Amino acid sequence: MIVLTNARVVTADGVLTDGWVQVDGTRIAAVGNGTAPPGDALDLAGAWLLPGFIDIHVHGGGGHDVASTARDLAAAVAFHRSHGTTRTLISLAAAPLDDLARQLGWIADLIAFGPSTSGHVVGAHLEGPFLSPERRGAQNPANLLLPDRETFAELLAAARGTLRCITIAPELPGALDLIADAVAAEVVAAIGHSDATYAEAVAGVEAGASLATHLCNGMRPFDHREPGVVLAALDRLTCEVINDGLHVHPMVTALVARDAGRLVLVTDAMGAAGAGDGEFTLGDQIVTVLEGEARLPSGSLAGSTLTMDVALRRAVLDSGLSIEAASAAASGNPARVLNLADSCGRIAAGLDADLVVLDADLRLQRVMSLGAWC
Ligand SMILES: [Zn+2]
Repeated sequence: MIVLTNARVVTADGVLTDGWVQVDGTRIAAVGNGTAPPGDALDLAGAWLLPGFIDIHVHGGGGHDVASTARDLAAAVAFHRSHGTTRTLISLAAAPLDDLARQLGWIADLIAFGPSTSGHVVGAHLEGPFLSPERRGAQNPANLLLPDRETFAELLAAARGTLRCITIAPELPGALDLIADAVAAEVVAAIGHSDATYAEAVAGVEAGASLATHLCNGMRPFDHREPGVVLAALDRLTCEVINDGLHVHPMVTALVARDAGRLVLVTDAMGAAGAGDGEFTLGDQIVTVLEGEARLPSGSLAGSTLTMDVALRRAVLDSGLSIEAASAAASGNPARVLNLADSCGRIAAGLDADLVVLDADLRLQRVMSLGAWC
């Protein structure tokens, strides 16, 4: 048994200022404050100990695009793990259907290898192809389709039980039926890349959508006379936020976090995350990264170069969230969105030992995944 001692342990019920966590194999055996139980002790010297991060929106990292090859997919996941992400939902941008089916197959294969190889990948998020051309962001318009139930069924089959989320523009013809199909298949329906009015977005919520894909980005902007998806999302949905200080103002993050449980920090990272400036691909498009800003030739933002440790740190330092609220947004809330809260997302006895150690400045020091230091 490993016992991590002398840590500021962030739990769902608050911070244990003289906390300890006992790890038995791949699981958390016990959590407490004060005198630690016997075991192989590691003194964390007052560092923060948080649950590992769960990123439900990521396209790449470390120079690897998940849509390139199965090997790149695994390398991107490993890159983000080194930044504290211990569970990853892989996002696939719209692509020709054969390509999407193949990419879904890579994810299913990786998961089939079992947790020691793939423990970090929890499934796939289809960010497309049923999206609005008006709000496509970095998506290639040639790959966008109108909602089609048969196509969805084919993609669902290609994912072999690993499709967990799909982003849909609810105003498109047939979208509401597709949202209902997704929910019936236990796939989270997210609203995004959408030009929906408020009423159209609410119809999507009533059909079963429960998540907003990267709030404020890829959607009709808020207007007091036509508040669009943004108000429907703030009022009724769990909201992904790309908290890089670029995609949303830090106070938007703070606003979403006022309602505990609503905020989910995501990276929406592309391959360029952690790979410096230069030219990269996002799906089949060329993206130029300059000082961390990833843009298409048109100038529009194309994903981010964010990592989850930075997203969390910004939530505390720039948006003024408590560390408990920021940790919930990086771990507990996304675990709940994906129905994984019984196994990960919190520091509690019986859950997987996925942990991150942060120094006093909230900079990442160590990552533990399933009981093993990475
Ligand atoms: Zn994305």
